[in-house]
Formats: sequence, structure tokens, C-alpha cells
Amino acid sequence: MNPNFLETPIPYLKGVGPNRADTLGSELGIQTYRDLLHLFPNRYLDKTSYYKINQLQPSGADVQVVGKIIRIKTVEQKRGKRLVASFVDETGEMELVWFRSHKWIRENLKLNEPYVVFGRTTRYGSTFSMPHPEMELLSEHQKGLKIAMQPIYPSTEKLSAKGITNRVIAKMMQQLFLECKGQFPESLSTAILDELKLIPKSEALFNIHFPKNQDLLAKAQFRLKFEELFYVQLQLISKKLLRKQKIKGLPFDNVGENFNTFFKEHLPFELTNAQKKVIKEIRNDMGSNAQMNRLLQGDVGSGKTIVGLMCMLLAIDNGFQTCLMAPTEILANQHFNGLKELLGDMNINISLLTGSTKKSARNIIHEQLENGELNILVGTHAVLEDKVQFKNLGLAIIDEQHRFGVAQRSKLWHKNEVPPHILVMTATPIPRTLAMSLYGDLDISVIDELPPGRKPIKTVHRFDSNRLKVFQFIRDEIKKGRQIYMVYPLIKESEALDYKDLMDGYESVARDFPLPDYQISIVHGKMKPSDKDYEMERFVKGETQIMVATTVIEVGVNVPNASVMIIESAERFGLSQLHQLRGRVGRGAEQSFCILMTSHKLSEDAKTRLETMVRTNDGFEIAEVDLKLRGPGDLMGTQQSGILNLKIADIVKDNQILKTARYYALQLLKDDPKLEREGNRSILFAYTKMMQQKTIWNYIS
Ligand code: ADP
Ligand code: MG
Repeated sequence: MNPNFLETPIPYLKGVGPNRADTLGSELGIQTYRDLLHLFPNRYLDKTSYYKINQLQPSGADVQVVGKIIRIKTVEQKRGKRLVASFVDETGEMELVWFRSHKWIRENLKLNEPYVVFGRTTRYGSTFSMPHPEMELLSEHQKGLKIAMQPIYPSTEKLSAKGITNRVIAKMMQQLFLECKGQFPESLSTAILDELKLIPKSEALFNIHFPKNQDLLAKAQFRLKFEELFYVQLQLISKKLLRKQKIKGLPFDNVGENFNTFFKEHLPFELTNAQKKVIKEIRNDMGSNAQMNRLLQGDVGSGKTIVGLMCMLLAIDNGFQTCLMAPTEILANQHFNGLKELLGDMNINISLLTGSTKKSARNIIHEQLENGELNILVGTHAVLEDKVQFKNLGLAIIDEQHRFGVAQRSKLWHKNEVPPHILVMTATPIPRTLAMSLYGDLDISVIDELPPGRKPIKTVHRFDSNRLKVFQFIRDEIKKGRQIYMVYPLIKESEALDYKDLMDGYESVARDFPLPDYQISIVHGKMKPSDKDYEMERFVKGETQIMVATTVIEVGVNVPNASVMIIESAERFGLSQLHQLRGRVGRGAEQSFCILMTSHKLSEDAKTRLETMVRTNDGFEIAEVDLKLRGPGDLMGTQQSGILNLKIADIVKDNQILKTARYYALQLLKDDPKLEREGNRSILFAYTKMMQQKTIWNYIS
């Protein structure tokens, strides 16, 4: 076969033509034969197996059952009627239901004769029901042709409207298989195929589209999932190796005056062992000849900031500039003030650049960055703007990674002739295997220890009906000199409603905690940044006792005296968000509390989230539960969707395959880093093709 056969534009396929090609392109992103071939079915109609009624699962899959109708009745409902037939086999009873064409069905159905019914079942209580089944008398069924499993492809309204039905897509697929005689280049080595007992590529592709039976379908899925994850890993690992070998880093071999002075005279506490370990790892990285690209994971409050600062001092000691980027203005502000305080009278020039920095101040910053006078630039996304040019950026730190995309990381790379070292700090605990597959090109450090003396936060769940007691508790805590956060959900889709909730909440709090005994701050997304900062400031300084806010405070804000976190409508928050919010308290020496307020109406998932929060403070455990509940897409936000744009594998469900794939990719690159061996030719070929395609592969360049 012509090696570029799969790159043939889709209009060349018989039966497609320019109109259909357009629709396929705009709706499903299909441009070439290859794209079509990789449009995998979402599910299959399995007419190869027969289920017993007691084998039915509440999964909603389409199933085929043999049995008899023993009764038919008409049931009145709000609008119209429905026809219900009781259908039995030797294992149980289920219902067949029709909402239309009653008369015809009633007249034609035969009682007590064996039928084969086919359709999707749903469960009501303990009874399964199948609406509008396909039906055939068993005697007819046995005479007829057996259709194997039928693929059901992803579809959209527009596709159906343009007549590109499932049938049409299946036809196109058949045509494609016909044109290339079902032969596709093998993309894995014989060694891997043999060792893992994988079926060949051509067989896998055939059976993913037209499975001969369940067993072959399972084999095809396994093989294609493995392959997909294998190439993701291969790409990530080789990128990392390449970076280590090829991209010369800026060597920071000096541990100089600033670092030492800070360590001896300014460090306000003893570093935890975990902090020391991580600083050592980073120092090793930056002292070597390779560029550093490191992810620093540490739960909220584990003390990442000081680690970041000490790394910046290392860079400065070696004659370089550094920057620290935070996702929100409040956080950038807080970092700026915090760092200034930590540095005290040290001779370090530090500035803050955000969206609200005045033009005159901005000009000075630009100038000092370009002539090298500025040592540390703290800021928001504003730092990424093209106008912001450094004389010699040596280290860039990104705080709270989950708000930044991969694209931003890559922008930082280009802020210097030689890419600066990059340290990404995140408080979102990512289960380790997942971290490897998402950030496989990064090295990972973990601060797995909290500073001493912290008391674990006590978390409870209270219903809104107990509000009076909660308010009394707040009064008691304030009397002891503590401060309180009260957080309201903010979900983009219903911003107006959320805003109303917040304002109602604020008014009720203001009534129960009146002036002059109580002072309340309020911070939300509709405020001007300067007003936000003012309110925040008052709370930080202890002038107000209660902070009513939306989730703007979620990230990074540090007020050690705040010891109570009340989360309103907690059922509306995701787990990682709840954990982040809770991390705002428990930062001082006092016992801290987190109170999750909800209504009585809770979904199963919401209950699980609340129970998890009450049970544990361990971010990694919480992340595991979150992952199970929501899947990786949500966990990471949308920005990583590039890498998660998998066609068949699922990073959570296929975790075991992922581990295997990673292992094989590592082995391969260890044995044959350049993929030069004869036995690896098929891999080299497939890999090269993939790199040319620049789909998900160029997410950081
Ligand atoms: P995060 O990892 O969430 O960014 P921070 O860097 O904001 O955490 O640190 C949280 C708090 O803990 C800060 O008040 C910080 O000064 C304090 N802290 C950090 N490291 C230590 C330590 N080794 N001993 C005592 N307190 C520490
Ligand atoms: Mg932080």
C-alpha cells in the first residue's frame, strides 16, 4: 500500500463528495482517510448474544432477550396512554412499553409465543423496561440472517440533518476498508505484539468497526488503547530526554550571598524536611547543564512559597532575573507583599505587574527589566505580554498551575534566548500515575509534610436548618479573636443568581453580626480590583472579622488568624474546590474548622463529596475520589484537554494499560533511543507520521 494512502483527502472516498466532506469536516473534524478510520464507534448493538432477564444491567446498553408476552395492558398517564406488555423468560419478568401506535401493536402481538426483542433497557425500581423494542418472532429470527455487532458512531444534529446517518458512516467505513483491502501498516513492533499478545493492527481496526464478536472487540479495544497511550508516553518521555540532552540550561552553580544571607538571617522558621529535600532537588536541576522543567506539588499550606523564593535567590546569585506568576490579582498582590516582607532589608529589587498597574509604573518596570535592574517580577498573566522583555530571565515560577494552560508555559520558554528554568507550583494533588501521563515531560517534586504545629482542620457537614447554631459558633470564635470566611458558589452559567445568593447571604450575615461589634468584608467578581484589594486588605489586617466572598479567595490567600471556613451551598462545589477552600484555614496555631452548609436535597455524588471532606484532610486521597467521580477532564480543567484528547483510551479507567504503556515506552527508549533498530521500524514510521501531523503533539514546542 502507498504509505501516504491514509492521508488521502476524504472527498476522494467513493460516496463522500464535497458536500458531505464539508459536513464531516466541520462536525467531526474528519479531513482524511486516517481521520475517518479513527472515528471509533461509541457503542455497538450486539445482536450476537442473548441475555436472560436476570442478567440485565442498569447500564442502559442495548440487549437482545428471548421470551414470551403473557399480559398486555393500557396504562393511563398524564398525557395520553402507554401500552405495557409483561415479558417473561425462565429467569424473570420485564416490561415492554409503547407510547405510540398502540392499536397496531395490540392487534399484532401474539401472546405466549416466543419472541426475540431488542432495545435499550432502563430500570424502574426492581423492574427493567424496554421502550419501543425491535421485535421478531423467534421462528422468523431463526430463519433470518444473523447480523453481527453493529457499530454506533458519534453523531450530531447537523450530521443527521444532512443525511449522514449512522448507516451512511458505516457505509463509508466499509468503503474505506474495501479500498485498502483491510490492510493497514502495523505500528507496533513484533516484540511488543508478542509479549503482550496483542492482535495485529489491521485486525484491531477491523474489529473496532465491525466486531465479529465480543471477544474480538475486547482484544481490538485493548490493542488500540495500548497503542494510543504508548505513543503519548513515547512522545512525552522522548521530549523529556531530548530536553535533558539537547537544551542547554542556564547553569546556576553558585550558591551565593543572597541565598546564604536569607538562609541565615531572614528565614522566619526552620524548613521542614520535605522543603529541604525539594530545594535540594531543584538546586541539583538548576546546577546541572539541563534546563529544568519541574512540577512542585504540595498540599495547601505546605509552604511552597518559601521554596520558590529560595530558588529565585539562587537565580539572582547567578546573575539572573526571575519572575513569579499567579493566576489572580489578589494572589499576585499577596505574593508581592509576602516576598517583600520576607526579604526585609535585603538588597533585592522586586516589582509587581498586573492588569491594574498604572502606565507610569509599568514603564519603569519595563525599563528595569530590560536593563537588568529588576531582580524579581511578581505578576499575573500580564507578565506574559510580548511587551514584557527581560534582560536575562533565568527562572520562571508559576504558582497554582491548574489555572494556567500549557500554552502559557511555552510562552515563558521564549522569554529568554536560552529557555529559563521553569518551576510550576500546584496545590492540586494529582494522583501520581495521572501526573505522569499529563505532565510526563516534567520532573515532579512533592512536599509531603506540613509545617509543624498545625492542628488538622475539623470538618463538619451542617444543614441550612442548623444555621442558628452555626452562627452562635461563629460568635464564639470571633470572641476568641478568630476570623471567619464565608464562601458562596460562583458558577459562570448562572452568575446573576449566584450574585443574588451572595448578596442575600451578606445581608443576612450583616443582620446577625451588626455593626459596631462586627466588621464584615465582602469580595466578589463584580467589584473593581482596587475595591477588592481594599476589602481583602482590611481582612488581612484583622480590621474585619468576617469575609463574605465568592470563590475568588480560593487560591492561595493567606490569613493565618482566619480559623473558620463556612462554605455555603457546599453541594454545588467540586471536591478539589472544597479542598482548596478549606486550605485557606488551618494556617495558624489555633484549631481550625470547616463547616459545609447544604440543603437537605443532595445527590449521591454530592453526598460522597461531603463525606469525603469530613473524613479526610489528605489531598491525594481527595484527588483519587474526585477522579473517580468526575473523570480527568474536569479535574484538570479544560486547559489540558489537548493531551487528554484521547480517541479511545480513558486515563482513569485504563490506568493499568497506561502503566503498561509507560513501562514499554521507557524500555524502548532505553534500549533504542533513536529507534534505529530494524525491529522498531514500524514504531519509528508511525511515530514520525504522528509528529508530522501535529495534532495533540505540539502542545508545547
Ligand atoms: P502553600 O504551599 O499553600 O503556598 P504557603 O507557602 O503559603 O503555602 O505557606 C503557608 C504558611 O506556612 C505561610 O504562613 C508560611 O509562612 C508558613 N510556613 C511555610 N513553611 C513553614 C515552615 N517550615 N515552618 C513554619 N511555617 C511555615
Ligand atoms: Mg501558595
